[in-house]
Amino acid sequence: MFKKVFIPNRGEIALRIIRSCKELGLTSIIGYSEGDKNSLPVQLADEKICIGPPSPGESYLNIPSIVSAMEITGAEAVHPGYGFLSENIPFVEICEASRIIFIGPTAENIKLMGDKSLARKTVKKNKVPVIPGYEENDYEKAFAHAKKIGFPVIIKASAGGGGRGMRIVNSPEEFKKMWETCQEEAKISFGEEKVYLEKFLERPRHIEIQILCDGKGKILVFPERDCSIQRRHQKLIEESPSPFVDEKLRKKLYRYAYRVARGINYKNAGTVEFLVNSDRIPYFIEMNTRIQVEHPITELVTGIDLVKSQILIAEGEKLKINQEDIRINCHAIECRINAEDPENDFIPSPGKIKKLILPGGPGIRIDTHIYEGYVVPPYYDSLVMKLITYGKTREEAIERMIRALNETVIEGIKTTIPLYKEIFSHPIFLSGRYSVGWLEKYLLSKNKKNQEVKK
Ligand code: ADP
Repeated sequence: MFKKVFIPNRGEIALRIIRSCKELGLTSIIGYSEGDKNSLPVQLADEKICIGPPSPGESYLNIPSIVSAMEITGAEAVHPGYGFLSENIPFVEICEASRIIFIGPTAENIKLMGDKSLARKTVKKNKVPVIPGYEENDYEKAFAHAKKIGFPVIIKASAGGGGRGMRIVNSPEEFKKMWETCQEEAKISFGEEKVYLEKFLERPRHIEIQILCDGKGKILVFPERDCSIQRRHQKLIEESPSPFVDEKLRKKLYRYAYRVARGINYKNAGTVEFLVNSDRIPYFIEMNTRIQVEHPITELVTGIDLVKSQILIAEGEKLKINQEDIRINCHAIECRINAEDPENDFIPSPGKIKKLILPGGPGIRIDTHIYEGYVVPPYYDSLVMKLITYGKTREEAIERMIRALNETVIEGIKTTIPLYKEIFSHPIFLSGRYSVGWLEKYLLSKNKKNQEVKK
């Protein structure tokens, strides 16, 4: 059993992990950058140690500095959160070769799933369907496949993530240029030029399955999360269960997610992501081998604490929960509130929070690291708060979300709250009949209208 958990992360997820540690009686140690010295995780952790300057490369991604900090503080385990080192193979290998327990999957698991084209090949072997495409980084063969499956196609960086490193190609004429651009961008952004090909699906839904595996044979699958409200392929709103998924599709998604986990002997928490077409046919797109931003909706729907479960699995415990214990107890929705200006092309809006009033009352959970007087630093991603509401029905969760958004006051920085107020009163969202491209189209038509008004 370990007692001291190191957290080389920041923001709401660092706080989330600190809270689980406290509830389990473990000592939390935050490894923070100079840019986060006044942050709430630094104030609430049991111990703190600075790991470098604000730039992520010099702090949250600085493996030698983090390893030294773990040595100095006597940490016995490390929870990486999401982002930063959470899926970094060399870091996990260092932990595996030392006495530090990595709270997450094995380096081998990450190797198989972190490379998205290899992940496709791996799951295909386990009889999980993937979108028609081609996995090899070979221009001639990929082009031949693109012509065979038909345009539009999408070229993706194998090492890509966070909605970046993807190019949609509408015609054969554009293919060569897009292939090369995608490779160049992949090299710059992810350090390797490898790309692969998929058919571009029209109006799919992004539906994902949380899994929890104890490494001792038990694999649990959780009710789906619908993450189809996206901008630039990045999730903004997630809900569970999905208004689109029926029991038949849910069973299929469970079966596929289970096969993915079993096929690679997966350990700890992970998420198997699918695109589902309008005929309700699901295709694997990738697996995230970490805790995800949107995990709270699953916690609310099922009543299971995923972060605590991650820690207990890493301690070597056998999962006590059984598949029959995982039920849909309510409907939950999450909004990722970002420090960005939705009226100005979502430009980041760091700065000092001058006034903060948080919503409350029944059916609301808030995961945030901000407080009145806190300065949102410019160096990191712009997520400042996860507003999560839940209710007996989807309607109740939505009513509570509208109420909560109206109660919230964040002054001093711009946030995406005004956009969420529009989405939660839009008939398409309310009907539940949205797909991954819907929000982008809505924003385009809104911009056009605004420009016409200005003229
Ligand atoms: P990332 O690893 O960057 O999150 P994913 O492969 O998970 O990338 O895809 C992110 C989003 O991009 C999906 O939710 C979907 O909106 C869009 N997308 C990805 N692949 C396809 C595809 N083949 N057809 C249509 N949309 C796609």
